[in-house]
Parts: sequence; C-alpha cells; structure tokens
Amino acid sequence: MSIIKDFLFQLTLVVIPIFIYYTFITEKVKSTKNKNIIMTILWGISIIFCMSFPVNFGENARLELRIIPLLLGTLYGGVWPGIFLSVIIVLFRLSFGISIGFYNTVLVLLSSLPVILFFQNSFSLSTKDKRVKIAVGLSFYYSVSGLTIFYILRGFSYDFLKVQIVHLIFAVVVTWFFTILIEKIREIHQLRLEVQNTEKLRVISELTSVFAHEIRNPMQVTRGFLQLLNEPDLPKEKKDYIKISIEELDRANEIIDDFLSFGKPSINSIVKIDVGYQIDRVVNIIRSYSINHNVKIKTDILDDCWIHANPQKLNQSLINILKNAVESMPNGGTVWISCMSTDEGFIKIIIKDQGIGMTKKQLDRLGSPFYSLKEKGTGLGMMVSFQIIHSFKGKIKVNSEKNRGTEFIILLPQVN
Ligand code: ADP
Ligand code: MG
Repeated sequence: MSIIKDFLFQLTLVVIPIFIYYTFITEKVKSTKNKNIIMTILWGISIIFCMSFPVNFGENARLELRIIPLLLGTLYGGVWPGIFLSVIIVLFRLSFGISIGFYNTVLVLLSSLPVILFFQNSFSLSTKDKRVKIAVGLSFYYSVSGLTIFYILRGFSYDFLKVQIVHLIFAVVVTWFFTILIEKIREIHQLRLEVQNTEKLRVISELTSVFAHEIRNPMQVTRGFLQLLNEPDLPKEKKDYIKISIEELDRANEIIDDFLSFGKPSINSIVKIDVGYQIDRVVNIIRSYSINHNVKIKTDILDDCWIHANPQKLNQSLINILKNAVESMPNGGTVWISCMSTDEGFIKIIIKDQGIGMTKKQLDRLGSPFYSLKEKGTGLGMMVSFQIIHSFKGKIKVNSEKNRGTEFIILLPQVN
C-alpha cells in the first residue's frame, strides 16, 4: 500500500508545476523567454522533490518520476532547459554522496539527454498526436536505458527486474497522460486568446465604421468644390490636376467602402456573385498592404464567373490566401491572381506567388489549426479559408516548391 501511496505522491509532484504554470503564469507573464525560465524553475523544483521523496523498494532501490519533469521540460522548453534540468539532477544526486547510484544517474543522463534533444526540434514542429507519440517513445527509451545501465553496473537480479518493469510501465503511462494534459490545456489557452482577438477585431471594426464616416464627409465636400473649380476656360494642365484629384478621392472612397463591408458581421446568406468582381474588391483591400511589402499584384480575370456563395466569406478566404502570398515574399515580387471557367463546370481561381514556398511536410500541415511558421502568426488563416471554400462545395489544391513559390487552385461550382 505504501508503495502505491509513494507513487501517487510522485504523481502529485509532477502535476503541481503544470497547474501552477497554466493557472498563474501563462496569462500574467508576457515574454516567452521569462515564461520559459519560470517553467524550467518549476520543473527543477519538481525534480528535487521527486528525488527527495522516492518510492523505496528496500536497500538501494529508489525509483521516482524525475524523467517526467526532465522530459517535458526539455521537449517544451528546448536545449537550455534540458541541460539545466540535467545539471540539477546530477548536483542533487551528488549531494547524496558519490556511489554507484551516482554513476548510474550520470550514465543514464548521458545516454538519454542527447536523444531527447535530438527529437526536441521535430517535437516542437509536430502535431498534437505526434507529440504524444514522441514523448511516450522517449520515456520508454529513458526507462530501458536506465534498466540496462543498472544491470551493467550492478548485475542482474530477478526481483529488481520486476520493480524496474513496474517503473517503466508507470513512467510511460504517466508521460502519455501528462503530454495529453498539457496539449489540451495549451489548446484551451490558444482558443481563449483567439476569442479575445476576435473581440478586439470586432471593436476595431465598429470604431472604423464611425471613423470612416467622419473621413468621408470632408472628402465629399472637397470633391464638390473641386467640381465647382473645374470651369471650362481653365488651362488644360489645371483641368488634369482637378481630374486626378477627383479620381484619387473616388479611389479612397472605394477603399473605405471595401473596408466597411469587410468589417460588417457576415450574414449567412448565399447569393449569386461574380467572382471577378469580388477579386477586384479583395485586391483593392490588400493593395496598400502589398505595396508596403514591395509586392505587385497582377490580375487576369474573365467576366461572368458566377457562383453561389456568401461574398463576405469568399472575400475573407481570398484575403487570407493573398495575405500569405504577400508575406511569403520578404524581398518583394509579384502575385498573380486569375479567374476563369473550366469545361467541367467549375470556376477556377489561381493565386500564385514567387515566395519562400513550402516543403512537402509543411504542405501536409497547411490548414491545421494553429500551424504557423511566423513569429506573429495565428495559424488560423488557412484553416478558415479551407473551411469556407469547402462550405461552398468547392475544392482547394495547393502546389508548392521550397524557395520557388506557391500556387493555390480553388475550384467552385459554376452557376449560369
Ligand atoms: P499565419 O499566416 O498566421 O501563419 P496561416 O494559416 O495563414 O497562418 O498560414 C499557416 C502557415 O502556412 C504560414 O505560417 C506559412 O508558413 C505557411 N504558408 C501559407 N501560405 C503560404 C505561402 N503562400 N507561401 C509559403 N508559406 C505559406
Ligand atoms: Mg496568414
């Protein structure tokens, strides 16, 4: 009984840092670096407690769960937390004196830490399911290497094998459970951030609509006076200036219109729309952003490409794709966007960039939630775009080549 009690106590020692971190730290501390430091310290404390209150199986047989803080700390934290936690383990073990157990600890760490570090990078880029598998695999590896080194140093004993196997099963199951737990908590946090962001956007879009009206009024007045100035006997040059001024004002007005309609909450109405017309509007919205990034947008649009869709949602999905295309070219370039009808009864939209492209692996992950390689990315744009296209019974295909560019092909059922 007391052994089970000891094991349960070990479990508590591992779960406490997770709860302290996700309840008190993640939301309060802003910088990722500080968060990482705090998490590593919490794991360090957990390791010291785990090692201080091991499960005792009699002489020399001390088992504990230090692998869990070490493993999770390294996988989620990176190389330095891994090294720091290993040093804590070695120093703390050293304080018990130099014995065969100390060498055992050092050898196990030497054989497992490099392997954990080797997998750390692919862990941080993996999906949830794959992360769980990696963590469980590493925990298994650690336990087996611990077992092997133990027998090399102290010789085989059947009694001890039983204990070690219990430990191995326990460590693997606990790793599996805690990785899933952490992944779940992280997902919930991420969703909460997204909700906050959406709320922020909603407030901004409400404010912009008021602000847009305030700008539009003086613009209308200016336009009116410009027209009045335009008298027949003015020199041609001045007439041209007035014409350009009026055109530019009209363009500004159009852009404001587009932003306003984009910010409007989308009503779930499916109507018959002309894809070319929508593409023009989307390009208008994204134009200043692209100019800022030194990116040209070229369009090739066929008239009368009609589909059934919700215009705001279609625009949103096109904007997400176009924005990524612009962002994929840090040194500028050209984005082509074209629209035509196919013989199979589809409207085909192609959005093509000359950007950094994606590897096969990255392409496979495109569209899964929170997958982003950008520092300030949300990893939601593609997910939303794919969902929108599918909701219009459309198909989307992406071709990409690393350092060459990416091509999005969207097929939507045509209506006449
Ligand atoms: P975010 O843009 O916020 O990162 P997205 O869901 O829009 O999220 O995109 C996910 C990831 O897919 C991006 O971080 C980027 O790595 C990759 N990606 C999307 N579009 C392109 C593209 N046109 N070229 C290269 N990479 C792209
Ligand atoms: Mg994006």
